[in-house]
Amino acid sequence: MSRAEELKELVSKLYSTHHLEKGEYVSLIENRDAVRDYLFELSRSVREKYYGKDVYIRGLIEFTDYCKNDCYYCGIRCSNKQAERYRLSKEQILDCCKTGYELGFRTFVLQGGEDPYYSDDMICDIVCSIKRDFPDCAVTLSIGEKSEESYRRYFESGADRYLLRHETADYEHYSKLHPPGLSAKHRQDCLRTLKKIGYQTGAGFMVGSPYQTAENLADDMLFLEELKPEMVGIGPFIPHHATPFADKPQGTAELTLFMLGLVRLALPDVLLPATTAIGTIHPTGRELALKAGANVVMPNLSPTDVRKKYLLYDNKICTGDESAQCRMCLQKRVEDAGYRIVESRGDHASFNERK
Ligand code: SAH
Repeated sequence: MSRAEELKELVSKLYSTHHLEKGEYVSLIENRDAVRDYLFELSRSVREKYYGKDVYIRGLIEFTDYCKNDCYYCGIRCSNKQAERYRLSKEQILDCCKTGYELGFRTFVLQGGEDPYYSDDMICDIVCSIKRDFPDCAVTLSIGEKSEESYRRYFESGADRYLLRHETADYEHYSKLHPPGLSAKHRQDCLRTLKKIGYQTGAGFMVGSPYQTAENLADDMLFLEELKPEMVGIGPFIPHHATPFADKPQGTAELTLFMLGLVRLALPDVLLPATTAIGTIHPTGRELALKAGANVVMPNLSPTDVRKKYLLYDNKICTGDESAQCRMCLQKRVEDAGYRIVESRGDHASFNERK
């Protein structure tokens, strides 16, 4: 067999068994030019087997950019004194949901820095209020590492899903991206707790983060195989000028797309967003992501006046537009890629069966 045929065999093995050994993932990642087209052919077919041409939309509400953490890559880290900090009130959040509901959103994602101002009581009150006013909608939280008790309280208040990217599965690599006090082990424990409680759980990682190796990405794949999250967020690392990683090179769209394809084969029915970050580094990055196996887009529903403040990285797109503009622009992009937006909660396939 030629080298190219051997690599194709590995892609076929992942397609049929949803598992590769670490060394096999490394081979694929290092020699990806030879198998990219074949991978995308399979990842697209798997995506269409489970979700057809449907693309789910999530309305992203960035409700606070205060953060007590100091992640080296992130623009809203507490040490960035240039960041303009803001918080949204419950009323402002509900207004965003109202706008979003009228635009066809049936999932709202509340994302923010780890902001101690919002007590568990406040988060529960916000979640309850959204579920009361919009009972046919799902609520996703993305507010970082909390105790099991907090996660349980949010869940009992009605939160359906939780996004907590593991960032990198490798403990040593994790410690190069985060200050002492934050650990990969604790983050991974949080993810297991979220799954146990019953959330549709989202893990994920940055592609091309500083010091990342092909072995690290292979470990990310093995971690996902083991955790089996319902959602996986993958985007390129993009430097932010006021962080310690200001001068580090950004991740590439090319490798990000390849990783999306691998994840689609490893977790065939996973909810996989075409992220804003890939749209930021490539003019049609999100369309390409959909064609590589992604099936979710997350347009911004935050009030226009705060969008320029929630900057995790430089040059973020869609920070000047109204929510309605973002919704329409996305619709066109999704259709250009050959897919269609559906106005539903867009639960994971296994959760539809449970209901
Ligand atoms: N505080 C929440 C939300 C984090 S922001 C939490 O802890 O989960 C959401 C994601 O943005 C992060 O998980 C990280 O993967 C990504 N992110 C942060 N800074 C980034 C950067 N400079 N480039 C690309 N992605 C970044």
